[in-house]
Amino acid sequence: MTQAIENLLSEDRSFPPSPDFTAQANAKPGIHEQAAADFEAYWLEQAKTRLTWFKEPTQALDDSNPPFFKWFTDGEINVSYNCLDRHLPDHADQVAYHWVGEPGDKRTITYGELASEVRRFANALKSLGLQKGDRVAIYMGMVPELPVAMLACARLGIVHSVVFGGFSSDALASRISDADARVVITQDAAWRGGKQVPLKANTDLALAQTSGVEKVIVLRRAGADVHMEEGRDIWWHDLVEDQTDECEAVPLAAEDSLYILYTSGTTGKPKGIVHTQGGYLTQVVTTHSDVFDIKPDTDVYWCAADIGWVTGHSYIVYGPLSNRTTSVIYEGAPNYPAPDRLWQIIEEYGVTIFYTAPTAIRAFMKWGDEHPAKHDLSSLRLLGTVGEPINPEAWIWYHENIGRKNCPIVDTWWQTETGAIMISPLPGVTTTKPGSATMPLPGIAAEVVDDEGKPVNPGGGGFLAITRPWPSMARTIWGDDQRFIDTYWSRFPGLYFPGDGAKKDEDGYFWLLGRVDDVMLVSGHNISTMEVESALVAHPAVAEAAVIGRKDELTGQAIAAFVTLRQGVVGDQALIDELRQHVADHIGPIAKPKSIVFTDDLPKTRSGKIMRRLLRDISENRQLGDVTTLANQDVVEEIAQKAALQTED
Ligand code: ATP
Ligand code: MG
Repeated sequence: MTQAIENLLSEDRSFPPSPDFTAQANAKPGIHEQAAADFEAYWLEQAKTRLTWFKEPTQALDDSNPPFFKWFTDGEINVSYNCLDRHLPDHADQVAYHWVGEPGDKRTITYGELASEVRRFANALKSLGLQKGDRVAIYMGMVPELPVAMLACARLGIVHSVVFGGFSSDALASRISDADARVVITQDAAWRGGKQVPLKANTDLALAQTSGVEKVIVLRRAGADVHMEEGRDIWWHDLVEDQTDECEAVPLAAEDSLYILYTSGTTGKPKGIVHTQGGYLTQVVTTHSDVFDIKPDTDVYWCAADIGWVTGHSYIVYGPLSNRTTSVIYEGAPNYPAPDRLWQIIEEYGVTIFYTAPTAIRAFMKWGDEHPAKHDLSSLRLLGTVGEPINPEAWIWYHENIGRKNCPIVDTWWQTETGAIMISPLPGVTTTKPGSATMPLPGIAAEVVDDEGKPVNPGGGGFLAITRPWPSMARTIWGDDQRFIDTYWSRFPGLYFPGDGAKKDEDGYFWLLGRVDDVMLVSGHNISTMEVESALVAHPAVAEAAVIGRKDELTGQAIAAFVTLRQGVVGDQALIDELRQHVADHIGPIAKPKSIVFTDDLPKTRSGKIMRRLLRDISENRQLGDVTTLANQDVVEEIAQKAALQTED
């Protein structure tokens, strides 16, 4: 019988936690076992001890109507209260955010200041007649007013739908319509790469395609000229001017909706994922503290994602604030004005914990080691990654060039739908292996299963499945319960199917193999994109690679590779031959790419993830599928031309 997914890559390096780190860590050895003894009791305890409730829950999981699971149903809570009020007045002067604007301006915002801005803005929302359960779309850049707007909504039980500021007006329009938003909060323009992104003008275009939006609140950030529609558009500063900074946080049921967030759209039409209050915040506050080992009094934490993605919701806003963390927020592009911008910020603020994505790490590798080398990064004590499988060589690069071999790395697997981290090392507990997200966190249960939903043997590849409900799980897809059931709960009865391939090794470690939709079928073998790409990235000439299965008369599918080289390397026929052989030597002849195209970049989502389905469309001369989330159209055209030339050869 063929394997659900082959296991080709083997990685022998491992990194145990240092005794010093373990001695001071929040999460200590034994925690997985304790939680496994009674996962509901574990989560109820986290809920009660880590959060402040208006009414404490007495029950953890309600599984009476699967897959519509509920958590802490008899509890009453307010997320904004947990992020702000409960830290006051004792910590009013602690910095919540060090904000760094792209052009070089800076702001320091304390917990006291943040709370008063949130209260004033919440009063402003009330003055517009917004009520609990209403939806508000937020389309902003990385400015402090973005978390202010989210927290003000949360304070009143208004459901926010943050739309990433890099999205087009069409993408904004479809998200406004899908959620029936009554109000849009935006800004004149956002800074990105030295240019202004016209968010207000985009909003105007979006609103021309939708109905139902009554008011648009506009923050002045970049000083751009904008059109203000009489009766509809209001400046943020005018609106808050007369508001007081007294505004009680509304007690909400644990299962009331907190927000809608559309998935980043790597595979197709975005889905409006719904998260609720109590369960979401419980898992976010717990994982943020234990995975990142947060020490509220001393750490300077930086999650360099965008707040427009779930990573930013959970690990820039709700997790850090509920743990009373001091964070950095940077507004702009990582290479503006120069490729060392992030390292300069780490040095300047003494950042201790840094969390980013493999796509960023591969870009840093491409830009060259000299940029981080120029800076004192010795304040760092822990590194994290999220968003895609990390190729072992990229992991090692991060470990050596950013962590200076002193920092544990937490490779965190999770998704918009899971709300919080699910599979990850605990830095004081888990021995890490480059490329493996290691094990499910305490209170989480996952398996790698075959086509029939049965656990695979050690060393086998298959499908990742979550085998038990968890507090921060998505409650549904907004307005489409059936799609929620079909997408996540129908593949394997009783199991949650995230859509990712994985393998589990002899030590019980999980290795994420990429999306199931991307798996290649070559001569009867199911081959994961991750393993072939990692073999390519292990060659010193390569910074980044994507592989896909292209139709082939002989083998069913043939592997086509798209490769970005490191700065200064020339891509010629000799290198193509060498790379093909390198993959064959590294993981086996079955995985040898049939073709290799060199390209300056790969098609990516606006969150930086490789869109392999577009590479398949190009390679099989098809019309491109959904491109609303594509960030770099020009790259697609470049690759299409090169691929066409190659087929003519
Ligand atoms: P869509 O679901 O709309 O196609 P998306 O899956 O890219 O978009 P996200 O929820 O932002 O949207 O991403 C979650 C996915 O990212 C996971 O399902 C997985 O494929 C990948 N991922 C995230 N973290 C990791 C990780 N540490 N290792 C491997 N893959 C990861
Ligand atoms: Mg997804």
